[in-house]
Amino acid sequence: MTAQLIKGTDIREEILEEITKEVADIKEKHGQVPGLVTILVGENPASVSYVTLKGKTANRVGFKELQDNQDENISEADLLALIDKYNKDDSIHGILVQLPLPDHIDEKKILNAIDPDKDVDGFHPVNVGRLMIGGSEVKFPPCTPAGIQEMIVRGGVETSGAEVVVVGRSNIVGKPIANMMVQKGPGANSTVTIVHTRTKDLEGHCKRADVLIVAAGVPGLVKPEWIKPGACVIDVGVNRVGEKISEKTGKKVAILRGDVDFDAAKEIAGSITPVPGGVGPMTITMLMRNTLNSLKYQLGLME
Ligand code: NAD
Repeated sequence: MTAQLIKGTDIREEILEEITKEVADIKEKHGQVPGLVTILVGENPASVSYVTLKGKTANRVGFKELQDNQDENISEADLLALIDKYNKDDSIHGILVQLPLPDHIDEKKILNAIDPDKDVDGFHPVNVGRLMIGGSEVKFPPCTPAGIQEMIVRGGVETSGAEVVVVGRSNIVGKPIANMMVQKGPGANSTVTIVHTRTKDLEGHCKRADVLIVAAGVPGLVKPEWIKPGACVIDVGVNRVGEKISEKTGKKVAILRGDVDFDAAKEIAGSITPVPGGVGPMTITMLMRNTLNSLKYQLGLME
């Protein structure tokens, strides 16, 4: 059997189209567009490329987009003052501080200073709490888990009553997606198990998963024989395993692999996400949706 491919690149296009239409509609009716500011401290090349891509995507869907670049020597107090300025700015609906921050700045203090109602990354403790409560309490689900759930829903995967096994317990992927899958609602209502480095029988747990979500950051961790025939496999892992010359640009690019052996797994699974082109493109897409929703909450178009 060859599995159905759940492609993040295709789903991203669908969702960005939907967002673009909705932004144009709100602009016409209410005269406002979502505003997203990204604060970048220093010039870490990986951060610069993430921020650039976020900015390009925000422009594409018709947002007001601001990139606020700060010198790497900015003081913690000045960075807090900057966040306070954007917290009070009514034209800004989403505030992002690109991580990592320089060592002299307390990351936790900075992230906690963002108004939870503009925290479109969903990492503020208030939003983590809202996610835990579930239902209409949830304002901004964290972007990678939200992308995973969206792929499951749009891939037509049955989750109600399904055994979901999540490999990994990080705060940005494993724990939130496990929490989301256990809630009531579409793409959820599942029986969830979280496995991690201290789990005794990783293989045994993976083998009974109807939906296997793998976010460990270990290339090829999940062996093909651990996959239940017909299961949905969501591979969140992005691992650099070497370099190659790009056919398009002629430049050196990283060779990326997931946490699952894709070629063998696709012959056993019912549906599977590729790496690259799977979960990866969904994160920024869901960031756009959270920012749009932030404006909709402000306008009373969402509760
Ligand atoms: P992390 O290192 O914070 O957490 C990894 C988790 O996996 C840990 O909880 C650990 O207990 C578990 N784990 C590691 N090795 C294991 C093993 N051998 N057996 C069982 N459990 C094991 O990583 P993260 O931030 O959650 O990211 C995980 C992977 O997902 C990485 O490859 C990362 O690059 C990728 N990622 C992708 C996206 C995206 O595509 N948009 C976003 C976030 C993370």
